[in-house]
Amino acid sequence: MRFDLITIFPEFFAGPLEHGIVRRAREAGIVEVRVQDLRQFTKDRHRTVDDRPFGGGEGMVLKPEPLFEAVESLLGHGVGDASKPGAADPKTAIVLMSAAGKLFNQETARRYAQLERMIFICGRYEGVDERVAEYLATEELSIGDFVLSGGELPAVLVIDAVTRLLPGALGNEASSQNESFSELPSAAPSLRASLASRVSNHTLLDFPHYTRPAEFRGWAVPQVLIGGNHSEVAKWRSAAALEKTRRNRPDLLGKE
Ligand code: SAH
Repeated sequence: MRFDLITIFPEFFAGPLEHGIVRRAREAGIVEVRVQDLRQFTKDRHRTVDDRPFGGGEGMVLKPEPLFEAVESLLGHGVGDASKPGAADPKTAIVLMSAAGKLFNQETARRYAQLERMIFICGRYEGVDERVAEYLATEELSIGDFVLSGGELPAVLVIDAVTRLLPGALGNEASSQNESFSELPSAAPSLRASLASRVSNHTLLDFPHYTRPAEFRGWAVPQVLIGGNHSEVAKWRSAAALEKTRRNRPDLLGKE
């Protein structure tokens, strides 16, 4: 998978993409990350990337020309002939980070993990000229119902979530299958069936994890986890995941 980031702050990515799973995936050649400085695609002496909004109002807006040029130079061909978005290749997504975009979730991450290339456009200031959303980006994506000051952190977040789903990125392949928002965790078949009927979109939060010491400041690890009975452990984990989902995210369970 190749990730390209288009930004006015190229140094931003020095830290966040150089740790843990993402770092190892880069070293192993599972992902390649390239950062593009938006100012390189300006043509004026001042390397202008932003301008005042038509219609008046606060703040500045990222101009369309450098963004189109940046994406076109990455793709190696022109886009946006005044009618259709720049998609062309179905294995490439051009993602505009935007608080007004569609909400990112694990299902979106799984869809992205099937792609070969993702180009992220990181907004700043008041946002990005709307023609970028309409005619250049294939997706406009939000990471949550809050407003950040730039699209860089959101892009890193998406790269992280997608990378860990790529084959070989996690040391232990099983670990991305039993996580929060994945398919129902492995459980006794009967319990699985009863959970499936109650859980909307077949997602639960992860079950609680414990490690040594078995007793810490008087708080003991649930006895069943220490017993070594695998089917009892699986049952306990499913029930605990359901309980935790009910407590923290009842919206995932729908009506019971
Ligand atoms: N005026 C815009 C916010 C601009 S914030 C609005 O009210 O919707 C500046 C940039 O930060 C945006 O262009 C976008 O790239 C990024 N950004 C802010 N919040 C975001 C979010 N929740 N998800 C994804 N990107 C976000």
